[in-house]
Amino acid sequence: MKVDTYRYLDEWIPNYYPARKVSEDKYIRISRVGTITFLTRSENVQLHEVFMDKELYDRLEASGHIITAKNSDQVMNNLQTWYQRTFGGTELHIVVLTRRCNLNCTYCHMNPVAPSAELESSDMQPHIQDAVIDFAFSSPSKSIIFEFQGGEAFLNFPGMMSFVEKVKNKNINIRKNIEFAVTTNLTVITDKQMQFCSDNGIRVSFSLNGSEAIHNRSRITRQGYGSFDAVMKKIKYLRNEFPGVLSSSPLCVVSKDTAPYLKATIDFFHEHGFKQIAIIPLNPLGHARKNNLSFDIHDFLRHYIDALNYIYEKNKTTNGYFSERIVSVLLMKILCKVDTSFVDWRNPCGNFGGAVVYDYDGELLPADEARSLRHEFSLGNVMERTYFDLIQDRNTFRTMNLSFRDRDSECRECPFNPYCGVSPILNYARTGDATPKPNESEECLKTIAVLDWIFKKLVEDPLPLLQMLPELNKFKEFSKQLHLMEVTTA
Ligand code: SF4
Repeated sequence: MKVDTYRYLDEWIPNYYPARKVSEDKYIRISRVGTITFLTRSENVQLHEVFMDKELYDRLEASGHIITAKNSDQVMNNLQTWYQRTFGGTELHIVVLTRRCNLNCTYCHMNPVAPSAELESSDMQPHIQDAVIDFAFSSPSKSIIFEFQGGEAFLNFPGMMSFVEKVKNKNINIRKNIEFAVTTNLTVITDKQMQFCSDNGIRVSFSLNGSEAIHNRSRITRQGYGSFDAVMKKIKYLRNEFPGVLSSSPLCVVSKDTAPYLKATIDFFHEHGFKQIAIIPLNPLGHARKNNLSFDIHDFLRHYIDALNYIYEKNKTTNGYFSERIVSVLLMKILCKVDTSFVDWRNPCGNFGGAVVYDYDGELLPADEARSLRHEFSLGNVMERTYFDLIQDRNTFRTMNLSFRDRDSECRECPFNPYCGVSPILNYARTGDATPKPNESEECLKTIAVLDWIFKKLVEDPLPLLQMLPELNKFKEFSKQLHLMEVTTA
């Protein structure tokens, strides 16, 4: 019964998730190897029939949406490439140099203590540093990123200097690709410290929640004063004196009170020369929990999508790009063959597989968010456990397994499955249950809302959206292959 212009069910097996309608006659399908394809209504229907057009078959075979006799090896290679960062060994090593901090932000989840607290019980001690470095170098990952955190990490600057020196010495023979980063509130950083960061290629990221009135609502000193003036003075000074060391994308935590001002906040960042904003909803952890600072996800998403529309429209009229971090992470997922290095938004998430936290006393945690939930999520102490010991222990991967979306029947039928990023730890913090449920978990709702928005814009007019990619030129070829750039290059 076969005819040459069709391909039949005995020639392929599906390797895609269900379709999502993105416009009147366009559907998107994401494959299990992270690729996307747009289909017309009639093409999409053919995937539920006993044969399809040869042209459609060829396209889906090339993108890996179907597995055939010809492409099966390639699809398996692509699958390994997609999961390269998931199974390649822990890459991000978050080192809590101290839990001392001069600020006392209303939502902090880092268990901060006063700068005057006893050093021995607040700063990471040299023998713990040594164990952390040995542990990190045991990861098979060729790239190791050490990110220093606090408290305020620069309050233990001697610890930072000795850590960097020890890593460099150890790496003389091991020769991994080492990167350093530090997260700081900027208020205590000195020229000497910044020079050290500049000399050692340490990327400096920081928090800035917006204009003075907004920032000072939450980022306050221990005496209750706002830190805005001090932070802005430092930004101005450090940009002049140490160009390129400060991140161009501040972390901006948004609460129920500040979300209504997101558009003004975007203007603020734009006017002050930033290229990207990382809009982070306030999480129910640490001080935020104690201070009863809840934030309904539906309220957040309403303001967040408004803010994305605002950036998108702004990109139509301004030169250069302005971006939001999660949108750029998701665009990278759409356009790259390897899943993102952003451990907080992956399926499965990067808990231990991609990142590990070493608290000031050597306690091992699978993610940053677990710092105020140590009793529930601790993986032991770096003085007692080795990397090899942990990767053989199923319990190490408890939260990573809970984030894996194919374990849930609804998620197995979700069009956005490969690009999803739920957090069992945040789910536990909110509900007392570490199992994220589809259409209930806040990260699920965010995944669906942002991806619906992105795909709508990709179809409508992709350029202002693709301008949210810092390296747009690199992706122009991919975009053409996906027929995304025709509108603008015609
Ligand atoms: S959690 Fe939500 S977005 Fe993620 S795969 Fe499941 S249904 Fe889809």
